[in-house]
Amino acid sequence: MSSYPDDDGLVDQDDLPEGHRSGFVAVIGKPNVGKSTLMNALLREKLAIVSPRPQTTRDRQLGILTLPEAQVIFIDTPGIHIARTPLGEYMVEVAAEAIPDADVVLFLVDVSEPPDEADRQIAGLIARHEGAPVILVLNKIDLLDGQPEEARDARCAEFAALLPGAAPLRISATEGRGVEQLQAMILAALPEGPRYYPADQLTDTQLRENAAELIREQVLLRYGQEVPHAVAVQIEEFKERGDDMTYIRAIIFVEKDSQKAILIGKKGAALKELGQAARAELEDLLGTQVYLDLWVKVLKNWRRDPHALRRLGYHKKD
Ligand code: GDP
Ligand code: MG
Repeated sequence: MSSYPDDDGLVDQDDLPEGHRSGFVAVIGKPNVGKSTLMNALLREKLAIVSPRPQTTRDRQLGILTLPEAQVIFIDTPGIHIARTPLGEYMVEVAAEAIPDADVVLFLVDVSEPPDEADRQIAGLIARHEGAPVILVLNKIDLLDGQPEEARDARCAEFAALLPGAAPLRISATEGRGVEQLQAMILAALPEGPRYYPADQLTDTQLRENAAELIREQVLLRYGQEVPHAVAVQIEEFKERGDDMTYIRAIIFVEKDSQKAILIGKKGAALKELGQAARAELEDLLGTQVYLDLWVKVLKNWRRDPHALRRLGYHKKD
């Protein structure tokens, strides 16, 4: 990013060492290659939603890694895919927008499968925005452990051929292999710059969104068959009460009365269980006790309704 915050702004720059680096890192790749898992490994916190289903990450997620010598702001993008609904179109735009904003681009691929058309298209998209250094992150290398070295090399070479200017690195985000080396490569590629955010801040306004994503993750884990993707979560209130308690009021929006009935269950039993599981995750994320006030509402066809999309926070950047 080109503009620095004002010197008299909120962020204290006093203790920064000479040569402090900072910048924005776009994490790009098709759905399910491990972008969220990698973010979590790099940030050592459960910030981005991880799910075996593709396309669960629908929004730009800022995760902030503050080290003594650098501050890295990650932009986790949704996978790039073909748009079929207004929400789908939004996802493609967001993914493409992250590239020109970035100081470093991580092009994430899944080496357990050969490159496909989607990988080629994304590589093309990145190549068009030349400028920022690109690291080709060859993820899920653990899945090739059983294969001969030549086979692994050949697979990695196929991906490297998509983007010859990129610096390749093999990693396993789930096992943590190569993650430290990746961090070192990112730091080396960042320009010198100030801290954009306070050191103790994991994200700017993202905690609320992360809380919403965690609740949504619980819904998908439990009811993925019954309510596929027809769920949005809005945080209505997010308040610290004392040092050790966070009060969260959240609404789960579904598209049909039948989905609402499933989520609530007999005498509210299903919703109670969902709330307990979500609360445990939220307490992990926030490091406080959580009082979770959970509601279910029907908002018909919200995925096709631009007003509903806006209301649920899917803003288009202009
Ligand atoms: P995203 O859609 O790109 O954000 O992908 P996720 O981070 O949600 O990961 C998709 C799936 O791939 C999850 O089931 C992860 O556990 C799995 N996964 C991610 N990284 C690795 C890896 O390095 N090795 C293996 N074996 N699985 C991984
Ligand atoms: Mg994701």
